[in-house]
Amino acid sequence: MAAYEFIDHKFDVVVVGAGGSGLRAALGCAQAGLKTACITKVFPTRSHTVAAQGGISASLGNMGEDDWRWHMYDTVKGSDWLGDQDAIEYLCRNAPAAVYELEHWGVPFSRTADGKIYQRAFGGMTRNFGEAPIQRTCAAADRTGHAMLHTMYGQSLAHDTEFFIEFFALDLIMDEGVCRGVTAWKLDDGTLHRFQAQMVILATGGYGRAYFSCTSAHTCTGDGGGMALRAGLPLQDMEFVQFHPTGIYGAGCLITEGARGEGGYLTNSEGERFMERYAPTVKDLAPRDMVSRAMTIEIREGRGVGPNKDHIFLHLDHLDPKILAERLPGISESAKIFAGVDVTKEPIPVLPTVHYNMGGIPTNFYSEVVTKAGKNPDQVVPGLMAVGEAACVSVHGANRLGSNSLIDLVVFGRSAALRAADVLTPGASQPELKDHMTDGHLARFDRFRHAAGEVPTAELRLEMQRAMQEDAAVFRTGESLTSGVKRLQAVHDKRKHIRVTDRSMIWNSDLMETLEFDNLVGQAAVTVNGAANRTESRGAHAREDFPDRDDKKWMKHTLAWFDDKTGKVKLDDRPVHNFTMSNDIAYIPPKARVY
Ligand SMILES: Cc1cc2nc3c(=O)[nH]c(=O)nc-3n(C[C@H](O)[C@H](O)[C@H](O)COP(=O)(O)OP(=O)(O)OC[C@H]3O[C@@H](n4cnc5c(N)ncnc54)[C@H](O)[C@@H]3O)c2cc1C
Repeated sequence: MAAYEFIDHKFDVVVVGAGGSGLRAALGCAQAGLKTACITKVFPTRSHTVAAQGGISASLGNMGEDDWRWHMYDTVKGSDWLGDQDAIEYLCRNAPAAVYELEHWGVPFSRTADGKIYQRAFGGMTRNFGEAPIQRTCAAADRTGHAMLHTMYGQSLAHDTEFFIEFFALDLIMDEGVCRGVTAWKLDDGTLHRFQAQMVILATGGYGRAYFSCTSAHTCTGDGGGMALRAGLPLQDMEFVQFHPTGIYGAGCLITEGARGEGGYLTNSEGERFMERYAPTVKDLAPRDMVSRAMTIEIREGRGVGPNKDHIFLHLDHLDPKILAERLPGISESAKIFAGVDVTKEPIPVLPTVHYNMGGIPTNFYSEVVTKAGKNPDQVVPGLMAVGEAACVSVHGANRLGSNSLIDLVVFGRSAALRAADVLTPGASQPELKDHMTDGHLARFDRFRHAAGEVPTAELRLEMQRAMQEDAAVFRTGESLTSGVKRLQAVHDKRKHIRVTDRSMIWNSDLMETLEFDNLVGQAAVTVNGAANRTESRGAHAREDFPDRDDKKWMKHTLAWFDDKTGKVKLDDRPVHNFTMSNDIAYIPPKARVY
């Protein structure tokens, strides 16, 4: 591949991604004296974290008594017992300190009358091990992610993180199972780069764009997951895709669960508050998987609203307009722009929309990437970590509770930095990189750059997105998933006929979107294959042909490998961690998940 040359960089740590998780990890590494780079394809404050609305969970107890053990219980139950309890303990125990750290860095949280951080109610968050709903979600109005991301970007500039902005990471540099760095394409001048590092931290976010309708940004193409699959590593629990109950009908953009936390409720065509039937105790504040299913059933049974009876109403019109202006200004504006609705007077038309990926790159609670090697299901991959939505620790298991992602970003971003500081020596010598380690990266890049087939990327991407939307939806069946597997295989096979029209190296968005699409295809394939294989219903994975949870057979994580050449998926599993970290709390045994 003499046609391309690399510009070389050497760091102790390279973080790929500048969303909440990437910034927290990068900042911690820099603080620990490690020479740290942060590579990002978009400007840091444009990462999808900026769009997070409702808030960040932590048992601060500002609105009544709270306990991290209650938060842990809720998270385990929310995960439908697929979460690893040692990791969930780590998350909930460290959550309050992580929020105070953000406060001290300057996040402008909303306040209670006595000046404490304001907390609102969110789905599945309860007091005293499931007794009654609790207000645990710390909020900066409905722009919490915006506030966090801007504050953390400022903080990481104050420390010595070196940013490489509008650099598109291509692939992991692997050397006999050890990660030695990452290659990247600089979008504005067309140069290619090799970033060598003792540790690469993938913080590339979710892959919501595998679906046709999602709340995530167009940049959420799961590039880190695609890189991991190409490096021969498995992804975990990819069949668990979260649908958020309240995407704006048609537009898909999000109305935060905080809207229901502030007293909003859903109605069907009969004006009935139907959630009272599905979750008598917590009603509209049931977890997202349950509310999405209830809405889908109401629509299917003919009680949807609108001329086509194909959506549901979310009411905020009974709430005090002053409260709406103070606590939900962002979504009031979104409802106006995208649905033409004045929330103080009319209900918002909503529909379940793809929102979050519970699955991702498997890690332990130090954020080290793990894989299954022989009999060892927890084999650490040297030189590689993953954090944030790209990772699967797994704290969210089969269903994430609202506001548990933002806290996951900062708690595990911090844990990655602490671990890196522990295991790395600043400035330690690194082995020389060899061409054979990156030849494949260049071949792939060059192949797509010169792709002269007959199918434009946009057309093939749409084919994938439609297949995912139709076949791996809120409810699934063996039939729909078999169809999904076939359709994804067809998309994979057509990839060799793809057409890219722009051959340039500078600001070639056609090529970039093609590389992103390629990252999505593998993840879409492992998602449907994992879903077809899992013959039970758990959390967000609702099989109509297998309506019950089957703990005997299926209380285990799916691992999925993708063969890029054939498009075939290989599946295996690893045990769920049914133990905690400390003696402060015992393992929470499974029981029926009712609210
Ligand atoms: C609309 C919306 C609202 C939400 N609200 C909440 C909420 O209120 N509470 C909550 O807990 N969760 C919420 N979530 C979920 C949560 O916001 C996300 O899961 C989280 O922000 C993801 O953060 P991240 O750091 O993993 O990645 P992102 O914030 O998605 O950042 C990814 C980063 O990776 C970089 N990147 C990706 N690919 C490449 C590449 N190839 N090369 C270089 N860089 C790359 C990007 O440039 C970006 O900087 C919401 C999500 C959405 C979509």
